[in-house]
Amino acid sequence: MSVITIERKILEKNDEIAGKNRARFAEHGLFVINMISSPGSGKTSILERTLEHLRGNISVAVIEGDVQTDFDAQRVAHYHVPVVQIITRGGCHLDANLVQDAAANLNLAGIQLLIIENVGNLVCPANYDLGEKMKVVITSTTEGDDKPLKYPNIFRNASVLIINKIDLLPYVNCNIERIIGNALKINPDLRVFQTSCTTGAGIPDWCAWLAQQAISQP
Ligand code: MG
Ligand code: ZN
Repeated sequence: MSVITIERKILEKNDEIAGKNRARFAEHGLFVINMISSPGSGKTSILERTLEHLRGNISVAVIEGDVQTDFDAQRVAHYHVPVVQIITRGGCHLDANLVQDAAANLNLAGIQLLIIENVGNLVCPANYDLGEKMKVVITSTTEGDDKPLKYPNIFRNASVLIINKIDLLPYVNCNIERIIGNALKINPDLRVFQTSCTTGAGIPDWCAWLAQQAISQP
């Protein structure tokens, strides 16, 4: 009996439920992304920009994960998309079970794209499959350029890297080439976008790509 054994059991159970989520999402032809970053990277701002951009184009629903408050769900609700808030009450990640419950409150039949905003944390969300099609990791220029080296797991498990707050590059000590270089060393298949939610830079590219993925979902 050891801590490692218990954690493995939790993850096995999680993966089983994630498999069920994935099957349910596939039944509805739903494209699902899991957005992961540290707190303050701009997940919700990117989400808002994305909803604004995709409006009238494809139908989107959102699952918001937060430790406390439904502030982010309130922000998302302004865009008139279905949104379910999960409050983890101290829990530092979403798991497949929480997402299964949240998804039960959504009419999946009318949706093409489901965006899950995870709890702000770069560590354990990397290990929890929620049933998503892909993980999107976000890091911002204000966090410096060492995130890929410090948290390699999430960069390994993600399909997309968004580098946010590029408008602040002149004011912060951050080498974007270093972020991209180190991230691609860990995961050469990562697709990289550079965005600013303030200027809107990079948002059209990211949204065009995302919409294409959602529409071409088998
Ligand atoms: Mg947020
Ligand atoms: Zn956690």
